[in-house]
Order: sequence, then structure tokens, then C-alpha cells
Amino acid sequence: MHLATISTPAGPTVIAKRSDGRFVPLPTGQDSIPATLQAILETWDTCRQAIETVVETAQPLDEPPQQWCPPIPTPEKILCIGLNYADHARETGAALPTEPVVFSKLAPALTGHEQPIELPEVSDQVDYEAELVVVIGRGGRHIPPDQAWEHVGGLTCGHDVSARDWQKLKSGGQWLLGKSFDTFAPVGPFVVTADECCPPLELDIALRLNGQVMQQSNTRNLIFSVADLIAHLSQVTTLHSGDLIFTGTPPGVGCARVPPRFLQPGDVAEVEIEGIGVLRNPVVQGTRRGVG
Ligand code: ZN
Repeated sequence: MHLATISTPAGPTVIAKRSDGRFVPLPTGQDSIPATLQAILETWDTCRQAIETVVETAQPLDEPPQQWCPPIPTPEKILCIGLNYADHARETGAALPTEPVVFSKLAPALTGHEQPIELPEVSDQVDYEAELVVVIGRGGRHIPPDQAWEHVGGLTCGHDVSARDWQKLKSGGQWLLGKSFDTFAPVGPFVVTADECCPPLELDIALRLNGQVMQQSNTRNLIFSVADLIAHLSQVTTLHSGDLIFTGTPPGVGCARVPPRFLQPGDVAEVEIEGIGVLRNPVVQGTRRGVG
């Protein structure tokens, strides 16, 4: 099922996309249907039937939603994998990793479908990266690879926006800040529940800039699979429902092009993953705002 979180006057609301393409808001205040997408994914096996019944019988929205939130507005963790497509690792000049390269993005970087990516005044090398994002359903620690998919709530589209100057030249080579400017983690619009996207994952993934294809690959080219990543990360940290794992980007990033192609105000970036959806974000010049 395709599920999303939208903003309404009553607060964040979970909607489902019906087979006819229309959107149905899930009712609140029912014991059988949790109020947040995070809780729905955590308990999908028990709430699925009630949600399927509602989706087929409830009144759909008259129009598509206007205000999309990140599907999981406040995840505990945003974990990211670098250099996880062999051809992308080569284009950056990096050696092929023998185990996952892991970094993180700070939570205020999260933003939703159709929300602007703000270019910070302090960087002139903001790059694009299309990524498949795993949303954890049931949490756990020390998860073996052959049980990892039991912990996947669903998959969604993500955009790992990256300030290359901050990523590579500042912070002593630590990637955190270059990856964490506000709005540098668009995610959504839909989480496709794991029952509809089981392995083997062979999903086309692309990034388009103003309609031009800049990145194109397939998730079969991941060096470390979704199961590998969950097993690896959960050796270290307890994964909780709603945690996001950005799984790495395919070749074609702007900094590897000649000449480089960085994001500019007025660009429109689209991440498309087969069977999951299209995540679209306009690019704007950010401004320095006052504190508080
Ligand atoms: Zn990335």
C-alpha cells in the first residue's frame, strides 16, 4: 500500500493512495488504526486489514493534497550509506568499500514532497543524489540478514542533497555538516509497505533535473543490500520504527561531471523509483534568517 503524511489544519494526517489513484485520509481515534505512519508501519501486520477496509470504503479527497510532510516527520535516526553503487564509487575516485560507509543527517534537514530545497549562502557546491530510503517498521538490535526484511516497514524516495565543499573540504573530512543543512533531506511522498516491495529489489531509480535525466540505475546494483545494511547497522545501534536508512546514490552526481553541475535557484529536482513514486522539489536560494 502507498501511504503518506500530509499537513492539514488538524495536524499531520496519514493518507493512502487507492488503486484508482485517489487519496483517502485514514480516520483518527480508532483503536484499530494508529494515528501516525510510524506507528502504522510498526504494527502493520495487525492494522493492515482495518486500513485496507477503510481505503476501499471511505470517501476520498476531492483533490490531491497540497501540503506534503515527510512521511515520518520526526524519525529518531537518519542513517545514510555512502558509495553503495560500484559505478558511483568509481566516478568519485574512491576505492570500492569492503563494508558499508555510514554517516548521518541531522533531523532538521528533513522536508517533504514539493517543499523547496534551500541553497545556503555559505556553499556554492550543492549537489543532488537520488536514493532509495528504507523505513524501519519493527525495531531491533543484532538483526541477522535473513530476518532483516521482517523489520522493514516500507520503502520511499529520498534525495541526499550534499554541499560538496562542506562535505569534503571542511570539518576535517567529516560528512555530517555538508549533508545536514536544513532542507537537505527531502523524503516521500509515499512509503510503499514492505509486503509490496520484497526482495529481490530490482527497481529503476533516476534523478531528473528540469526534466533531464542526470542519474539512472537500478537497485540491483547496490553493493550492500537492504538486508546487509540492516544487519550491519543493528550491530551498533538499536533500530527503531520510523528510522530512515538512505541506501546510497547511483552515478551521475553533479560534482563528477565535466564541467560540474551544481544545483541552482530555479531548478526542479525529481527522484523517481519504479513502483514507489516521484519526489519533486524546487530549488530556491536560502536566506539568512534571524535567530528564534
Ligand atoms: Zn548519498
